[in-house]
Amino acid sequence: MIIAIDGPAGSGKSTVAKLVARRLGFAYLDTGAMYRAVAWRALVQKLDLTDPLPVETVESIRTIAQTEPIRFGFTPGDPLPSQVFINGEDVTRQIRTPEVDRAVSPVSADPGVRTALTEQQRAFGREYDTVMEGRDIGTVVFPAAELKVFLTASAEERARRRAQQNAEKEGRTAASAEEIAAIRADILRRDACDSSREVAPLVAASDSWLLDTTGMTIDEVTSAIAEKAGELR
Ligand code: C5P
Repeated sequence: MIIAIDGPAGSGKSTVAKLVARRLGFAYLDTGAMYRAVAWRALVQKLDLTDPLPVETVESIRTIAQTEPIRFGFTPGDPLPSQVFINGEDVTRQIRTPEVDRAVSPVSADPGVRTALTEQQRAFGREYDTVMEGRDIGTVVFPAAELKVFLTASAEERARRRAQQNAEKEGRTAASAEEIAAIRADILRRDACDSSREVAPLVAASDSWLLDTTGMTIDEVTSAIAEKAGELR
C-alpha cells in the first residue's frame, strides 16, 4: 500500500508522514531529501545554477541523479531512516542549509533529474508498504496510490512551524520574528517555483484528500490519516 503525502514547504509533511509510517509499521520515503542531495552535490561541484540552467549544468545534474546512489541510514532503535547519504557521503545536515533551500528548486525543475529520481522512488514503493512524501507523489510517482493526502496550511503557520523546528534543533526555545519572516519569504519563493514549473508541478491530485492543517495539532493530523488508511486496508 502506498500513502502519498504531498504539499507545499513547511506544511508538516515530514513530521506527519514519519508518524503515520511509525503508527502503521510502514516504510517512509522523504523524496525532498533526494532532490536536496542532488542539489547539494551540484553546489559541491560549483555548478552554475542561475536561471535558465546552462547546458553544462543540466548535463552534470542529470549525471549526478543518474549515477550517484542515494541511500537512507538508520540509527539503532529507530525503525525510520534518519540519515541521508549520496555517493557514500553523509549529507544529513548539509541538505537542510539555506544554500540548499535556494539550489533545490532549479535542480528539481529539470525533467532529467526528475525521471532519474522518480524511477528510484517507484522501485522503493514497489518493494514496501510506504508512506511517501513530496510534491508529485499522488500526481506522477504513484498516481494509483491507495491514499493520497494533500496537506496545506497558511504561509504564516508554515513559517512559524519551520522556524520553531530550526530553533529547537539548535537548543533554543523560540524563533525570532526576523527568522520567521526570512523563512516565510523562502517558503513563498519555493512554493512559487514548485507550482509554476512545467514538469510535475506542485498541485493536488484531483482525487486527493485536501487537509488544511492550520490550527490542527500534529497528533490530530496523524490520527486522521492513519484512520483513513486503516479503513482502506
Ligand atoms: O520536501 P522538501 O521541502 O524538503 O523538498 C525540497 C524541494 O525538493 C522542494 O522545494 C521541491 O523543489 C523539491 N521536490 C520536488 N518533488 C518532490 C519532493 C521535493 O520537486 N517529490
